Amino acid sequence: MKLDSLQKLFISELRDLYHAEQQLVKALPKMAKGATSSDLKEAFQTHLKQTEQHVDRLEEVFQLLDEKPVAKVCRAMQGLIEEGAEILEEEGEASVLDAALIVAAQKVEHYEIAGYGSVRTFAELLGQDQAAELLQETLDEESQANDLLNKLAMEVVNPEALIEGELSGAKSES
Ligand code: ZN
Ligand code: FE
Ligand code: FE
Repeated sequence: MKLDSLQKLFISELRDLYHAEQQLVKALPKMAKGATSSDLKEAFQTHLKQTEQHVDRLEEVFQLLDEKPVAKVCRAMQGLIEEGAEILEEEGEASVLDAALIVAAQKVEHYEIAGYGSVRTFAELLGQDQAAELLQETLDEESQANDLLNKLAMEVVNPEALIEGELSGAKSES
């Protein structure tokens, strides 16, 4: 697609988000399964439900624009999800691994916040008020998900894991 109008950039970015969200629908159940903290598991499961709605909302936006819902490969989300998958393979202290999953998930939310903030603004500029509203709803849920992860980050880490080597009984190398 030749990017010679804001409308085309808008659609192109929506396609990117459409692919990003579809990948997340597949990745979030694995994150939930891999988490140890029950609060973190629940947060991933709740966000999975929301993410399914994000896919539906994007389809509504495409419909409002009279565009077929077409996904464009989002390499950034592929990479972010791969990093999350690497953590699931990692061994270590459960609460530290939960903290690592939170970092990965927050990177995802920040990417989505950037994407949705942009398309919401494009919709406003283009006078697509209904689309702007739908995109704002998703943006708000991504922000809330990020806020919850911030809160959980302060709660999941086992205090003993704050001390290097404490859990494995290893001596520090100083
Ligand atoms: Zn989303
Ligand atoms: Fe992307
Ligand atoms: Fe999200």
